[in-house]
Amino acid sequence: MELDNDGVPVWSRYNQKPAYLPEIEELNSSIEIIPRLALAHEPQSPYYAALCTMSQLNSQIGGYPSWVQDPTYPLCPCCEQRMRFIGQIDYADFDEYAEGIFYMFVCPKDNITATIYQQS
Ligand SMILES: [Zn+2]
Repeated sequence: MELDNDGVPVWSRYNQKPAYLPEIEELNSSIEIIPRLALAHEPQSPYYAALCTMSQLNSQIGGYPSWVQDPTYPLCPCCEQRMRFIGQIDYADFDEYAEGIFYMFVCPKDNITATIYQQS
């Protein structure tokens, strides 16, 4: 995705919308209310997820990704630099039968975002 001047994500010129996805209007009318994530009362160390002895299954903002598989920092398609980690979402926070983690990245210079999904 790319962020416009207001920070609103739009399809990136480097990406193509898969044909199986519904139109935005259809999607907006069919969205179910999903559980909202909340910030923890106590912040955790930015290194929390990087410790192999800690749980990998946590949604978080900032810090370091807790990779389920090998680390995969995407390259920005504009400047070809590694993108910065923003946060991760545990799929199980939205679907009790789901597994895996979505990792989110941004290139602040080019306003490009990327998402990677990994599962065990
Ligand atoms: Zn870039």
